[in-house]
Amino acid sequence: MEYAIDTRCIHGESHRHPDRNCAISYPIYQTASFSHLTPGHNPNGFDYSRESNPTRAYLEETVSALENAYDTIAFASGMAAIATMFEYFRPGDHMVFGEDLYGGVARLIARISEKNGYQTEYADTANLTELKKRVRPGTKAVYLETPTNPMMRVTDIRAAAEIAHSVGALLIVDNTFMTPYFQNPITEGADLVIHSGTKYLSGHNDTVCGFLCCAKPEHAEVFRLLSKTVGSTLGPFESWLCLRGIKTLALRMERHRSNAEKVRDWLLKNPQVEQVFYAGSGMISFTVESRELAEGILKHIRLITFAESLGGTESLLTYPTVQTHPDVPEERKEKLGITDRLLRLSVGIENPADIIADLARAFEKASGENERIIK
Ligand code: PLP
Repeated sequence: MEYAIDTRCIHGESHRHPDRNCAISYPIYQTASFSHLTPGHNPNGFDYSRESNPTRAYLEETVSALENAYDTIAFASGMAAIATMFEYFRPGDHMVFGEDLYGGVARLIARISEKNGYQTEYADTANLTELKKRVRPGTKAVYLETPTNPMMRVTDIRAAAEIAHSVGALLIVDNTFMTPYFQNPITEGADLVIHSGTKYLSGHNDTVCGFLCCAKPEHAEVFRLLSKTVGSTLGPFESWLCLRGIKTLALRMERHRSNAEKVRDWLLKNPQVEQVFYAGSGMISFTVESRELAEGILKHIRLITFAESLGGTESLLTYPTVQTHPDVPEERKEKLGITDRLLRLSVGIENPADIIADLARAFEKASGENERIIK
């Protein structure tokens, strides 16, 4: 029997006691290595924690159950998952990337992957006609975020999968913003799913981790070999923190969304806000009249924290042009709208009235200062 997603967040695929001592909270196997009975024979299949660890394995099974994946590998960060995944490709391989991507991925492509001889190209994947033009016979992968970070552009995953598969390319989707609670890229045809598990999956701003979910056994085999060889896998304690976070994913995502909708409505009514970008989940980007106002808001928020990252219980306000996207070339930032007037808000699960009151106060104080500067 298949359980609903909120039940799978708590019990994984099936309700059972995965621990041999029947612990309800899966134990932290804080060990580097495992004893062997005879040469080559370990009854539970664990040898060395870089390669596999029971706490990590239980987390990986849980995430697979949520993403409908054949297998999932847990990494030390979202970037570790992405960088290890890139090792799959060879010099000369052509890859198409969504043009609005987390800045760390843009940096990885520009500073590290291109030296490996990949031919990389950017496209607005939300525009399927453009995506069709960018792929060509032999393209190896299409990599995208939906919604994008920070402009919240949405790509039709099923259509993008058809386009990628028509030329034999893999479709890789970063599902960090939506999480499996709101969106299942593998069910829509994606081959690989990436997560910064640091964000909604762990959900408490207390750990850094990442995932690579594979739809097919052949990819799982390659990426298991790569992850154990490169050594970018997740430690047992962080695995446990993420497991604990996932138990409340469904509750948190409902609250993130309902809070975000209230904040979005308030922003839409604010005459100092020019544009609001919202595509569901708990993430909102918005532009204000001037750079001074944006910086003033960052200075005057009190409950909301001015910080990089997203997806945790605490509301965070980020300045993408400086914090998350400094490595994106200026002309691409300009084209996408990542300006010094853009702010990105990760709406937490505090009382929504308190979040809005904090924003209202910050807007008021910042515009008071702004007026004094203009006079
Ligand atoms: N993907 C997205 C959409 C992100 O926002 C981030 C980080 O902000 C990453 C990947 C990288 O994840 P991590 O910070 O866990 O390495």
